[in-house]
Formats: sequence, C-alpha cells, structure tokens
Amino acid sequence: MTEINRNLHRLVKRLPKVRGRYSEDVSLAKITWFRVGGHAEVMFKPADIDDLEDFLAKKPGDVPVTVLGVGSNVLVRDGGIPGVVVRLGRGFADMNAEGDQIHVGAGALDVNVALTCAEVGIGGLEFLCGVPGTIGGSIVMNAGSYGSEIKDVFVSATVLDSQGRKYRVTKEDVVFGYRKTLLPAGCIVVDGLLKGCKGDKAQITEKMMAIRKVREKSQPIRARTGGSTFANPEPSQTKDLAWQLIERAGCRGLRVGGAMVSEKHCNFLVNTGMATAADIECLGEKVRERVASVTGVHLRWEIQCLGKAKVENSDRAKT
Ligand SMILES: Cc1cc2nc3c(=O)[nH]c(=O)nc-3n(C[C@H](O)[C@H](O)[C@H](O)COP(=O)(O)OP(=O)(O)OC[C@H]3O[C@@H](n4cnc5c(N)ncnc54)[C@H](O)[C@@H]3O)c2cc1C
Repeated sequence: MTEINRNLHRLVKRLPKVRGRYSEDVSLAKITWFRVGGHAEVMFKPADIDDLEDFLAKKPGDVPVTVLGVGSNVLVRDGGIPGVVVRLGRGFADMNAEGDQIHVGAGALDVNVALTCAEVGIGGLEFLCGVPGTIGGSIVMNAGSYGSEIKDVFVSATVLDSQGRKYRVTKEDVVFGYRKTLLPAGCIVVDGLLKGCKGDKAQITEKMMAIRKVREKSQPIRARTGGSTFANPEPSQTKDLAWQLIERAGCRGLRVGGAMVSEKHCNFLVNTGMATAADIECLGEKVRERVASVTGVHLRWEIQCLGKAKVENSDRAKT
C-alpha cells in the first residue's frame, strides 16, 4: 500500500470527533502487566462519560471496540488489537464515600479505593488493596482475594452498551461467577457503587497490611505476569485449587521460550524478559493439556486473551 493509500485507509479518519484523545498504533506491551503483545490500531481515552457515550453512538458499526483497565488480567496477542481500544483515564477515577458506601469511577485503581475506604472507616473492601486492577476491570472479573470478592460489596454499576446507551444495573441484574461476571456483551462499566460496613480505621489499615504481607510472600507480584492464570475449578469438579492441579501435573518451572510457570506460585505465568504473547499462550495451553491428562480436570483461562496472533511472513506468503 502506498503512503497516500495508507493515509486514506487510516481508521482514525472514520471515527467521530471527540473531546478526549485518539492515538494510533499504540504499543500495548507498554501498558499491560505481562509487557508483551502487539499494538492497538487506535487507542481512545475519553474525556468523560458523555464523550464515551457520544463516541459509541456515532462510531461506524463495523469498528470493533475493546476496553482495557490497566491490563493486569489480559494477555494481548502479538498481532495486536484491531479497531479501537478504550482506556478510561482521569475522567473516570472519581471517588465519593458516604456512610458505608463508596461511589467510584471505573478507572479508579482498586488500591486507591481500598486506601480511601480505610481513611473514612469503611471496612469490608480491604481485599481490594491486593488487586492491581481498576474497579471496572474488577467488576467485570468479579475480582477477589482472601475470602471476599466484588460480588459481596457490589450494589450497582453504570454501564454503556455498544451503542452508547446508559443503564444502571443492580446486584439483582448481574450474575456473578468465580472470577467472571455476566454482563451484556460489549458493555462498558463506567462507575460502580460498592458497600462495606462502618469500621475502625486502625483495624482496617492493619487488615490491609496483613493482606499485603501474605501476597508479597506467596505471589510473584513484582514479576511481569497476569496474576492467576486459571480459575479455580468448581468445587463439584474437584476440591483441589488450580495451583495444586498444576503442581500435581509437574508444571512448576515449565518453560516455553521466554515464558515460565512461576516457581513461587505455579498458577502464575511470568515473562522472564524476552517472552512473546505466543510463548505465554502456548505455555498456558501446555499446562492445561498436562493437567487434563494427569488429573482429568480441564482448567479455564482466567486471564483474558485478546486480539490476534501475529502472522509470520512465511505464513503470509502461503496465503
Ligand atoms: C500480580 C497480580 C496479582 C493479581 N491478584 C489478583 C487477586 O488477588 N484477585 C483477583 O481477582 N485478581 C487478581 N489479579 C488479576 C487482575 O488484577 C484483576 O482481574 C483486575 O480486576 C483486572 O483489572 P484491570 O483494570 O487490570 O483489567 P484488564 O486486565 O485491563 O481487563 C480485564 C478484563 O476486563 C475488561 N474490562 C476492563 N475494564 C472494563 C470496563 N470498564 N468495562 C468493561 N470491561 C472492562 C477487559 O476488556 C478484559 O476483558 C492479579 C493480577 C496481577 C498481575
């Protein structure tokens, strides 16, 4: 394609005018925890909810939209994500605490929500201090740890559907599962209302410190990782947790290219430095195969694998 043709075909030229920012060909390896993956064709950072609503209502129907938080639970494939990747920034990070509830923008970091709750004496949300994502990502993933999860504190959320229509969904409308929440396909969470209980500030802070200490000891939280790779199986399937099955299948320390099953916590895959997304996905599939063959349990990916695989030049020549 010539430079003139490429310019004419740029996706950004077909997108509506917005108050936020479009950037083209943005490296997603720079913003995801695994530090791997291709580029977003266009990244859109909306100025605020109205801007996002407007964009969704006016964008051409054939343009795919993917939303990302801080990329702590995704594996972006090496071929990148076609279409528009939406990232919720500052305009979506407000927090307002009142009584035992906190109303937060979907772009707010979980750790900041936990800290704000500790400051104002709202207990029950301490578990968020150990989840390195955003509230939007955590609502969609039903994130949790140490016996609590989003489901326990969720009151309601505002979501936009793929056409930019705004809805309020409450606990009764939403089906929460283990590390997944069933929301209508393609919807974007823009804020959430969470409810804890009034508590003692010092005790809340102490609980958060204890959670941090345990995590530091048992998880590779400073590694290039996506957190727990596989969801724990349903108790009706087996009483074993995912890491126990992986251990039993002899996968601790297993490698593919630059990807490795963590020695510290074998349900974590890590990028040892030069891994590609394909290495990590291939390693994950290898672990699933070995676990299935040794234990009969089929693990479900908890990490969301997004985008398309890279087409190598030799493959392209064949097509
Ligand atoms: C070191 C480490 C430790 C972790 N520990 C835990 C843990 O203890 N417990 C736990 O539950 N998880 C844990 N995780 C996983 C991860 O932090 C959580 O799943 C987190 O909630 C993801 O939030 P995010 O903003 O990073 O979402 P992303 O990773 O950016 O996105 C995750 C998914 O949510 C979708 N999404 C994101 N934002 C929105 C939105 N606003 N609206 C609609 N869809 C959206 C994305 O499309 C994607 O499918 C850990 C991860 C790491 C790297």
